[in-house]
Amino acid sequence: MAQRSITLVINILKDSLVKVNSLNTFVFRSFFKPASSAGTEEASSAKRSRQESPQSNGKIGEPEKKIQRKSEEADNRNAKQNVQTNGKNKDTKKASPKASKTSPKNKNTSSPFKKQINDIKKEIKQEKETVDSKLNITSSPFKKQISDAEKDISNEKENEKSDSKHVEVKSEPKSSKDDDASKQNSSKDDNANVKKLSVEANQCGAEYNPASARYHPIKDAYWKAKQSTPYLALARTFEMIEDTKGRYKMVEILANFLSSVLLLNPDDLLSCIYLSINQLAPAYEGVELGVAETTLMKVIAVSTGRELKFIKTQTQEIGDLGIVAERSRVSQRMMFTPKPLTVQTVYQKLRTIAKSSGKAKSPIIHDLFVASRYSEARYIIRSLIGKMRIGIAEKSLFQALATALVSSRGYDENYKKKKQSEADIKKDIEDITFLLKTAYCQCPNFDKIVSTLLTHGIDDLLKYCTMEPGVPLKPMLAHPTRGVSEVMDRLKGNITCEWKYDGERAQIHGDKNGTVNIYSRNQENNTTKYPDIINRIDHFKKDTVQSYIVDSEVVAWDIEQKQILPFQVLSTRKRKNVDVEEIKVQVCVYAFDLLYLNGEALTSKNFEDRRQLLRDNFNEVEGEFQFATSCDTNDPDDIQGFLENSIKGNCEGLMIKSLDNDATYEIAKRSHKWLKLKKDYLTGVGDSLDLVVIGGYIGKGKRTGVYGGFLLACYDDENEEYQSICKIGTGLNDEDLSTHAKFFKEHTIPAPKSYYRYDATLAPDTWFEAVQVWEVKCADLSLSPVHKAAIGIIDPEKGISLRFPRFIRIRDDKSTEDATGAQQVAYMYRNQDQVKNQKTNAAEFDDDFY
Ligand code: AMP
Repeated sequence: MAQRSITLVINILKDSLVKVNSLNTFVFRSFFKPASSAGTEEASSAKRSRQESPQSNGKIGEPEKKIQRKSEEADNRNAKQNVQTNGKNKDTKKASPKASKTSPKNKNTSSPFKKQINDIKKEIKQEKETVDSKLNITSSPFKKQISDAEKDISNEKENEKSDSKHVEVKSEPKSSKDDDASKQNSSKDDNANVKKLSVEANQCGAEYNPASARYHPIKDAYWKAKQSTPYLALARTFEMIEDTKGRYKMVEILANFLSSVLLLNPDDLLSCIYLSINQLAPAYEGVELGVAETTLMKVIAVSTGRELKFIKTQTQEIGDLGIVAERSRVSQRMMFTPKPLTVQTVYQKLRTIAKSSGKAKSPIIHDLFVASRYSEARYIIRSLIGKMRIGIAEKSLFQALATALVSSRGYDENYKKKKQSEADIKKDIEDITFLLKTAYCQCPNFDKIVSTLLTHGIDDLLKYCTMEPGVPLKPMLAHPTRGVSEVMDRLKGNITCEWKYDGERAQIHGDKNGTVNIYSRNQENNTTKYPDIINRIDHFKKDTVQSYIVDSEVVAWDIEQKQILPFQVLSTRKRKNVDVEEIKVQVCVYAFDLLYLNGEALTSKNFEDRRQLLRDNFNEVEGEFQFATSCDTNDPDDIQGFLENSIKGNCEGLMIKSLDNDATYEIAKRSHKWLKLKKDYLTGVGDSLDLVVIGGYIGKGKRTGVYGGFLLACYDDENEEYQSICKIGTGLNDEDLSTHAKFFKEHTIPAPKSYYRYDATLAPDTWFEAVQVWEVKCADLSLSPVHKAAIGIIDPEKGISLRFPRFIRIRDDKSTEDATGAQQVAYMYRNQDQVKNQKTNAAEFDDDFY
C-alpha cells in the first residue's frame, strides 16, 4: 500500500510538471477574437506573461510557488474521491479538512512531500474502509475475492508493461439449467469486481468529478494538456448529469467538463459535443447507427461469456441495456487492462459503425465494448441504442458551451480565477449563448460552428456560419389563435391570410451547381422521398434563379379532380428511396416563402418583399407547384369568409402573416408575426395539442391485452422535462390500440425518468420512453391539482389538464421536444373565454424555441 501511495504521489507530481509546461502554450489559446478591446488586452497580457514568466524559458517557476501549486493540485485531487458501485457512483467521502492541514507530527519535516504522502496514505486507508463497509465485503467469504482482485491488479500491471494489447478471458458459456445459480454467482462476482475496479479507479480517473462545487478545469482534470480527452471523463460527466435533477446543475457539470476540454485539448471539443447530444453528424446528413438492440445483446453476451437469455431477462428487469452492459462488463475478468478509450476513438468508431453494413458492425461494437471501463460501457451502449437518458438537449448544450467558453478564459497564468463580477460573467454567458443559438439556427452544423470557434473565435461566428443551400434551417412557426377577433387584436398592421395546407413542410434547397435537396420540418433529408418534385424543379424556377431556399408545404394531390387530398393520403407515401415509376400518391408543392436567392440570405427582409421575390422568380404549374392561396385583407368578415373557403378547399384553416416592415423570417421561433387559425377553433379549444406519450394503463374488458389508456405530457423546455397533462382513452379504435401496444412494447422502461413530472396517483402500469407525439383535441383546459403541465406559470402549485381529450393522430414529423410546450399550454388555458376575463397578458410569454 505504501509503495502504491508513493507511486501515486510521484505520478501526481509528474502529471503536474507536464501540465504546467504544456499549459503555458495552451491555457492562453484564446477562443475570443483578439480584435475586441477586452480580447486584445487579454491576449497581450497573456503574451506578456508568457514572455515574463520564467516558465517560458523552459524552467519551472520559483520553488515556493511550485510547491504551493503541487500542494493545491494534490489537495484538489484528494478532495474528490468517488467510488463506483454497481453502475451508480456514490461519493465515499471528501478529504477531511483535518487531513489536509499540517499535523503537529509532520509540521517541521523538511520535505513538503512527506505531508502529502502521509495525507494520501490516510486517504487511501480511509477510502478502503469506506468502500469495504459500503460493499460489505471485508468479512468472509469475500476476503479471498478482494485479495484475488488486488493480486489481479498487480498481475495486470506487470503484464501491461510487457504487452499493451489486451486479451479477454471468457468464462465458459453456461447452460440454461445453470441460469439461477449463474444469477447469484454473477452478483457476487459483480461485487468483487466492483471492489477491484474501485481500487483501480484511484489511478485511472474513475473518481473524476465535474460536479464538484469549486471545479477547476485544469487541476481537477486528470488528463494532461494536449493529451486525448479520456472517454471515461465524459462518461463520468454523463453519470453525474444523470444523477442530477435540476437543469442548472446539469448545465454546470457539462460546462465544467467542456472547460477542461477547451483548455487541455480543444481539438476534442467537437467529439464531446456530438457524443453529449448523441449525434454523429448534422441531422440533415442522416448518419444513423442502425444497430438493433438484439445485436447489442448478442455482442454483450459473446464478449462477457454471459448467456443471451440472461442478458435479455436482465434488460427486461432493469429496463436499460446500458446498465446491464456496465454490470456485465464489471463482472468480466481481463488478463490485460485495455488501452483507455478516448472521446475521439469512441466518436470515430461510432461513425464507422454507422457507415458499416449489417454484420460488419458487430466486431467494431465488440472492440469498443471490451475496451470500456466503469460507466463507459453504459454510455457506449446507450449511444448505440440512440438514447442517452441524461436529458441534455441542444438548449442545455449551448448554455454549457457558452459557460465553458467564458470560464476557460477566466484564469490567469497561474491558473487562478481572474477577478470578474458575477454580473459580467452572467452577461457574457447570455451573450455567447445567444450567438451560439443564432449561429446554429442558420447553420445547424456543429462541425462548422466548432471549427469557427476554434479558428476565428466567437466574435466571428456569425460571419462564418452563414445560411447556404444544402444546410436546412430551423423553420419559423406560428402562434395559435382562437378566432378572427384575436387575430385582429394581435396583428394591428397590414396582414395577409394564406390557406393552411395539411401536408408536410418542405424546405427546398437548390445550389448553383444544380443540386436540389428537400428537408423536413426537423431538418431531415427528404430528398429521396420526393424524386418527382426534384425532376420538375426546372419547370418552376425561372432562368434568373441560380441558388435558392423555398419554404413550402407538400400536399397529396388528386390529378383527376384537381384538388388537394387529406394528410392521411400523403402519409401512405414511402419515406425513402421512392422510385418515380412507382409513385401512386401525386403531390403538389404550395410555396409560401423564399429564404435565400442567388447567394443572398433573405431572412432579414420583410415578408412582403420575400413573397414578391418568390412570385418574381418562380412559375406556378397547376397541381405541381403553386403559391399559397392568399388574401391581403384587414377586414374581419373577409377573413372569416376566407377561412371557410380554405376548409372547403381541404385545408386546415389559415395562416395569418404580418406584412409590416419588421416582419422578418424568425428562424426557429413560434413567432407572433405568424398566427394560425384552424377550423377546429370554431368549436371547443382553438388548437389541437401535440403531446408525448409517457405511460400506459393496462386495458380491461374489450381492451384486455392492449393498453386501455395512456398518460400524456407536454414538454417544458425551460426545465427540460415532460409534464403530465391528461389520461387519454378516447378516439382510439381497435386498430390504433393494437398498433400502440406493439409500438410501446419496444419502449417500456421500469421506472419513470427523472425528467417526467407527474403525480404518484396517476402512475401508469407501464412507463414508456418519451419517443412518440400524438395530436390530441379536447373540450377545454382546466387547472388541475394532479397534473403538472405548466405548473408554476398560471398557479404556483397547480398544473393544467385537458378535459375530454381525444386522440387524433400520431405526429411522426415532430420530435418529442417539438411537442406542445408548457408556455403554450398556459397560453391556451388563459385564452379560453371563461379564463380570459380574469387576466390575459400575452406579452409575458416567451415563446422562443430556444
Ligand atoms: P402546426 O403544425 O399546427 O404548428 O402548423 C404549422 C405548420 O403549418 C407549418 O410547419 C407548415 O408545415 C404548415 N403550413 C401549411 N400552410 C402554411 C402556410 N401557408 N404558411 C406557413 N406554414 C404553413
